[in-house]
Amino acid sequence: MPKLIVIGAGVAGIATAIRAAVQGYDVTVFEQNSYPGGKLAEIRENGFRFDAGPSLFTMPQYVDELFLLAGKNPRDYFTCSKLDLVCNYFYEDGTSISAWADADRFAREVAAHTADNAVAVKKFLAKSGEIYGITSPVFLERSLHKVRSYLNLQTLRSLLRLPAIDPFRTMNEANSRRFRDAKTIQLFNRYATYNGSDPYQAPATLNVIPHLEHHFGAWFPQGGMYNITRALVRLAEELQVTFEYNAPVQEIMLSSRKVTGITSRGQFHPADAVVSNMDVYFTYTRLLKKIRPPKHILRQERSSSALIFYWGISGAVGESLDLHNIFFSEDYAAEFNAIWKAQRIYEDPTVYVNISAKLEAADAPPGCENWFVMINVPADSGQDWEQLTNEARKHVLTKLSRNLGKDVASAIVSESVLGPRGIGKNTSSYRGSIYGTSSNSKYAAFLRHANRSATVHGLYFAGGSVHPGGGIPLALLSAKIVAGMLRQVKR
Ligand code: FAD
Repeated sequence: MPKLIVIGAGVAGIATAIRAAVQGYDVTVFEQNSYPGGKLAEIRENGFRFDAGPSLFTMPQYVDELFLLAGKNPRDYFTCSKLDLVCNYFYEDGTSISAWADADRFAREVAAHTADNAVAVKKFLAKSGEIYGITSPVFLERSLHKVRSYLNLQTLRSLLRLPAIDPFRTMNEANSRRFRDAKTIQLFNRYATYNGSDPYQAPATLNVIPHLEHHFGAWFPQGGMYNITRALVRLAEELQVTFEYNAPVQEIMLSSRKVTGITSRGQFHPADAVVSNMDVYFTYTRLLKKIRPPKHILRQERSSSALIFYWGISGAVGESLDLHNIFFSEDYAAEFNAIWKAQRIYEDPTVYVNISAKLEAADAPPGCENWFVMINVPADSGQDWEQLTNEARKHVLTKLSRNLGKDVASAIVSESVLGPRGIGKNTSSYRGSIYGTSSNSKYAAFLRHANRSATVHGLYFAGGSVHPGGGIPLALLSAKIVAGMLRQVKR
């Protein structure tokens, strides 16, 4: 049985382990933390449960696929429900827009609250679907770094339609042409943040993202997002995958540019192949010190990071809120300018509030709610995070209290905070960026690191910092691409 070692038990690491085990590999996952999941982790404190990172679950079919592959019924492991209401958007002038999953209802809602009409919204969503149809087979489901990927009819057809994916103008430029109302433009520009990018720089190709929510849907896993990690680990263990926790990998061992294994806790562990789920930057700089790293990869711009307040809230402060809520800044361009150009936190940040207790009562004590309050911030480049966090906390509380007409600060009964440094430390993510490299350039999809090393035989990469990119669905697709490569090697 060929031996595979996976470095990291993030969602992509676990998915790779499952796929490889199904193919007959003997798999061991080495994880530096005492728990699996990486960014898809959870926090429990003072009777509250919080999902530590991801809160929006799209494309659950990629998770289900792993169970089906192993001949199991996904519903025996985890269940999730499709949301009717994807998100509530709140604007400073008192307008609120409910983004219904149903496209017609959503279009009517936008028309009722803005100067745009329902037809414009439906056309936009149709365009989003068209971009998905073209990009999905080429940019998401295949390696972009194998000649064979380009030699089939479907890919060639997609490549011929490239101008239709709108890569030559920014999201904001495209959305400002499509819509009249600044509120509608802001709502759709926001999707750039789903992979940590800037709508004023990122190509309009990212307008593909709304299709995921309004076609495939936004989902809520019963028991919270962390149940995805739990379910996948359970499946992996049933497939005889071994998990070694508190086991940071120190070095990837090579002989004549071929992987021979890894070292962890001072011990050598042999392997026929190694998959790194660790951020590609640190895979090179920490684990592969003896080979020359691909400098253009290490220099790539990183995605934004996040500052999260995990607040236990007592009382009815959030009565008007749902699972996903966004409180928009008044000047979106200034906010992104602060994040990307000035590398600081904007004074009037767009605030995301996720309350899983709305659907999962056990996540908070009776009469309370668990508020996951997040703002976009730059990746870590040595800022004074203590000062920035204190200032941001004040701004966020003022904004939420103003919009809700209630004093949020006095309702907080439990609190913890996670910022770029913490994200970086907890998951070894370079500069604490949450989606690997940014998608601000129209070439980003082509420049992201491949899923296989070009110079080291037997070394593969799966996860949000490599092709096809960050976010749970893409991280899962990276595992699928790597598994395809491992299958060919095994033959
Ligand atoms: P990671 O989760 O980073 O896992 C890497 C693992 O490798 C970690 O467990 C780490 O400890 C381990 N590791 C690193 N180095 C070593 C070593 N040397 N030895 C052993 N182990 C090592 N995505 C969405 O789809 N929806 C969302 O709503 C969403 N929101 C997010 C909000 C936040 C605050 C954050 C942080 C992320 C969010 N994401 C979201 C992104 C999503 O979480 C990630 O893209 C995805 O979880 C990445 O998974 P991964 O397997 O690539 O890597």
